[in-house]
Amino acid sequence: MFDKILIANRGEIALRVLRAARELGIQTVAVHSTADADAMHVKLADESVCIGPPAAKDSYLNIPAIVAACEITGAEAVHPGYGFLSENAKFAEILREHSIKFIGPTPETIRIMGDKIEAKRTAKALGIPVVPGSEGGVSDVASARKVAKGIGYPVIIKATAGGGGRGMKVANNEGELELAVSTAQSEAKAAFGNGEVYIEKYLQKPRHIEIQVLGDGQGKAVHLGERDCSLQRRHQKIWEEAHSPALNAHQRDEIGARVAKAMAEMSYEGVGTVEFLYENGEFYFIEMNTRLQVEHPVTEAITGLDLVQEQIRVAAGAALAYTQKDIHFSGHAIECRINAEDPEKDFRPSPGLITSFHAPGGYGVRLDSHVYSGYHIPPYYDSLIGKLIAFGADRKEAIDRMQSSLDEMIVEGVKTTIPFHRALMRNKQFRNGEFDTHFLDTFNWKTQA
Ligand code: ADP
Repeated sequence: MFDKILIANRGEIALRVLRAARELGIQTVAVHSTADADAMHVKLADESVCIGPPAAKDSYLNIPAIVAACEITGAEAVHPGYGFLSENAKFAEILREHSIKFIGPTPETIRIMGDKIEAKRTAKALGIPVVPGSEGGVSDVASARKVAKGIGYPVIIKATAGGGGRGMKVANNEGELELAVSTAQSEAKAAFGNGEVYIEKYLQKPRHIEIQVLGDGQGKAVHLGERDCSLQRRHQKIWEEAHSPALNAHQRDEIGARVAKAMAEMSYEGVGTVEFLYENGEFYFIEMNTRLQVEHPVTEAITGLDLVQEQIRVAAGAALAYTQKDIHFSGHAIECRINAEDPEKDFRPSPGLITSFHAPGGYGVRLDSHVYSGYHIPPYYDSLIGKLIAFGADRKEAIDRMQSSLDEMIVEGVKTTIPFHRALMRNKQFRNGEFDTHFLDTFNWKTQA
């Protein structure tokens, strides 16, 4: 096992990793920008290193500064959390060159899965069903037209290097195609520095269902069930649950087994998430995330496994100590992403001073958060200030517990998405589990009785 790891992240996830490491008896090194000098992960870590000014590109994305911090502190491994450098193959490669372990898959795997076309090709070759679409990238309107005609409208144009719901445009018919392709290309170029796009069939009423996997890099892999992340705003998840209300145990076992087999064949190392759209009983692969996900706690709640500790164990060379039949699911868990955003003003970020903070608690309630009363939310990073997770014997119990926890939670000084989530919990259709990825397009939290 490692003696010391460096956590190349901030916010709630830095704290989450720090706690997991500490429980394993591992020393922790926090890195931080000048804007995060008084952040909770810095206060709680054994050591900390300032790696640059507030802008992420100068600090949390500053590879030389992070490598230097490892060398100064003697950290043997780096946990990248999610976002920032967590899916940066170059970073994983540089760490390898410096004999520092990247806690995650190999740079080669990250590179394949980071290119969405390559990822689809790999998934298909491993027997995973994919969304029908172009074989590779499309660079001009004529070839886009040809592909779209073949698969039928509507189609979606997506960025090969995509992420965070950016660089995606829907074309309902041939007339809309040219503009959709050029807008997606320029958005992709601006966001990822790579304007390549590809085309997929646009599914009209899908659910977003993803399978959590864990592999030891030595040929063993298991799946840890699915999460339903269909509730999205602008293709961004804001609420997740495990299991999905749409699947039964048989469907879960079937898709889970296919994915786990594929991961074993790849000798996948670490945790990963294989994302699907699910419509009319069929699964369609869209992408794989080769890192820990924001929503991992709902899986922890129903499996009893600490995913971060599992990640660290396999990174340290341990083989998986169990097989699929040792994984047991129990109960239902849901997660609300609490963001410092103003739901009254189109969810605009609301950074600033938290003047008062009260965390909910009690049986079956978990809050992963780095904020406290007197904490100043900096304006430079994403607006997630906490994840509230409720666990119950069944879905209804989990929702009732979430509703009561949201009522109890107090965050003053900044605006948050708590009122939005409270309204959602009261919606009958949502409570019945009847929703697809478009549910929030028409959900009005202000008028919800
Ligand atoms: P990103 O990597 O930017 O998050 P994804 O490929 O994971 O992009 O897609 C994010 C969301 O966009 C999906 O959960 C879904 O809501 C929507 N989406 C993506 N591809 C399709 C598609 N082919 N049909 C319908 N919706 C899609």
